[in-house]
Amino acid sequence: MDAWPIGVFASIDAGLGVAWDVIADLKVPTIQLHAPHPDKRNQAAAETFRAQMDEMGVRCTAVFGGFEGESYADIPTVVQTVGLVPEASRASRLKEMMEISDFAKWLDCDTVALHLGFIPHDPSNEVYSEIVAVTQQLCDHCQANGQYLHLETGQETADGLLEFIQQVGRDNLKINFDPANMILYGTGEPIEALQQVGDHVRSVHCKDGTWSDTPGESWGQEVPLGEGDVGMEKYLRTLHAIGYTGPLTIEREIPQDPERQKAEIGQAIELLTGLRESILA
Ligand code: MG
Repeated sequence: MDAWPIGVFASIDAGLGVAWDVIADLKVPTIQLHAPHPDKRNQAAAETFRAQMDEMGVRCTAVFGGFEGESYADIPTVVQTVGLVPEASRASRLKEMMEISDFAKWLDCDTVALHLGFIPHDPSNEVYSEIVAVTQQLCDHCQANGQYLHLETGQETADGLLEFIQQVGRDNLKINFDPANMILYGTGEPIEALQQVGDHVRSVHCKDGTWSDTPGESWGQEVPLGEGDVGMEKYLRTLHAIGYTGPLTIEREIPQDPERQKAEIGQAIELLTGLRESILA
């Protein structure tokens, strides 16, 4: 595979991603897929999606888990609702992630990813060791399916993420690096963070954002690729420097408006294609 195939974050029926029927129009060779609702996570549905992707000439490079009840309304709500951290839903969501891993296997996809949620910052905290334990269980399930588990960045600092990966101690635990999330959540300067965690990065999002006036307390703003504070050229040059050759997956968290998606993502593809040519030349 050539380095840096372009991709888009896509969805069939759940999560904010490019609508399924827009994928073919965009003519991208790869997608990351938001896991569909539970009723479509069976083997028959997976085989249908796989046949559709073959027809579109698209390869699924990661399946992202997401859950009922998650809300990204503001940072405190994320703390309460997202990922495997909230205790009330932890066991059922772990089971669901394992089902998503099985679904990904039926799609012939070797990577499952998710936002774990806000892991407590202190490793001696009891909840911290509980999150380490569920992540180990999930990694082991993925391992049995021949898969990697990728953690989406944003809710931890680079130091926090490295510490957590070390505590989990599973070779198939990797990072999906999202530079905009570092800005949106106010968890650190993305280029420095990427240099720090680079050895663990196995997939990335190409997303842009602007800093909040009160980083870490209120959201920054997500904006079209190239219009935010990430600095796309510097981002790609840093990916090159750390030896990353995987897909460049464009993520744009706008509601499913096919025309707007096509226009904005078309521009993002153009930007990335141009940068790729000049950097890899
Ligand atoms: Mg992302």
